[in-house]
Amino acid sequence: MKPVDKPGKTGALMPVEAALQRLLDMADAAPILERETVRLAECDGRVLAEDLVSTLDLPPWPNSAMDGYALRIADWAGEPLPVSQRIFAGNAPEPLAPGTCARIFTGAPVPQGADCVEMQENAIIHSDERVSFSEPLQAGQNIRPQGQETTVGELVLPAGTRLGPIELGLAASLGRDRLEVVRRVRVAVLSTGDELIEPGLPLGPGQIYNSNRRVLCSWLTRMGCEVSDAGILPDDLEQTRTRLAGLGSVDLILSTGGVSVGEADFLGIALREEGELALWKLAIKPGKPLTCGHFRGVPVIGLPGNPASTLVTFALLARPYLLRRQGVEDVQPLRFEVPAGFVWAKPGNRREYLRGRIEQGKAVIYHNQSSGVLRSAAWAEGFVEVMEGTTLAAGDPVNFIPLNEVLN
Ligand code: AMP
Ligand code: MG
Repeated sequence: MKPVDKPGKTGALMPVEAALQRLLDMADAAPILERETVRLAECDGRVLAEDLVSTLDLPPWPNSAMDGYALRIADWAGEPLPVSQRIFAGNAPEPLAPGTCARIFTGAPVPQGADCVEMQENAIIHSDERVSFSEPLQAGQNIRPQGQETTVGELVLPAGTRLGPIELGLAASLGRDRLEVVRRVRVAVLSTGDELIEPGLPLGPGQIYNSNRRVLCSWLTRMGCEVSDAGILPDDLEQTRTRLAGLGSVDLILSTGGVSVGEADFLGIALREEGELALWKLAIKPGKPLTCGHFRGVPVIGLPGNPASTLVTFALLARPYLLRRQGVEDVQPLRFEVPAGFVWAKPGNRREYLRGRIEQGKAVIYHNQSSGVLRSAAWAEGFVEVMEGTTLAAGDPVNFIPLNEVLN
């Protein structure tokens, strides 16, 4: 038992950056080191463990960017040119016969000797099938040069890159059918609360359906994690101990609920007994209480239970932590400034992540920002970040974090 932090007696709240930094330090101390080589189709959302270096020039040979005619500009002096070959994508052309042009299609190799491609719209085909050109020609026009995208030996994606459709496409274009990736992070998801019941069952008095479990399990799966769904944990110390002990070998225990002030914090007690515990009061809204620690050596993050709080704290704290465990360096989501389309008159002592949208170029916010209202986030396109201690007049710049930046 090693209490690390006590809940702030002074009432001072931990700034979001400080909490993130602590979590990233924890992640850096426990990197996932195992790697595996997996088929491209299974790499989506994973983190690259090797440097992806090009073994090809891309494109491998100069090719045509247009449907048209390939020619040597010096051969064109106003006299129509005969067509000496037709080159489709996939063909291996002959060198261009002097004094001729070649019919060529997009993606086809430009024949040796040709130095430009003219698009078919600017070609005049005569009755004898010879071709002349209506516009001035420029060397290199409509030719995609060899190696324009990448050349042999070039670093295309460094280790630590998060893989999505674009990165996988790039790997495919280099001929890779497998990549070395960091093994999936194993996350156990626990929903705490006596009031919780799973959807599909009849709702009893005082009960609510467990929504956080669905949010987190789906989100983690999208992120490429291996999720073990540990279901609902009643607010009971004995069951908390037993359940934690039975979670098996995971990289993170992620729980929701049971960290609000005034509630018996059974997770906290169990962590204090068999690990270590930090209880943070964060300058974040929705959010604020967050549990962070270890149970028998396994890292634990306890998010607040209100659905919008779970969402915000996962997006801004737990997600970056999970990415960093896999070696991703830049874990901050994209933020950009937009003019506020609303007024914020009362400065808060916590940083607010309002669920908002962009309408006519301005950030607008959902009418109900209660931490219990998940619908605000379904309506929203992102988080509008209002810094602590600030007010906003309409038109003032405010940060916007698109939700689709973080929901993967
Ligand atoms: P707690 O952090 O346990 O005090 O929970 C704060 C609020 O979030 C309470 O209103 C809980 O009923 C609600 N809540 C906690 N966990 C969940 C969950 N898994 N799904 C939906 N609501 C939850
Ligand atoms: Mg609870």
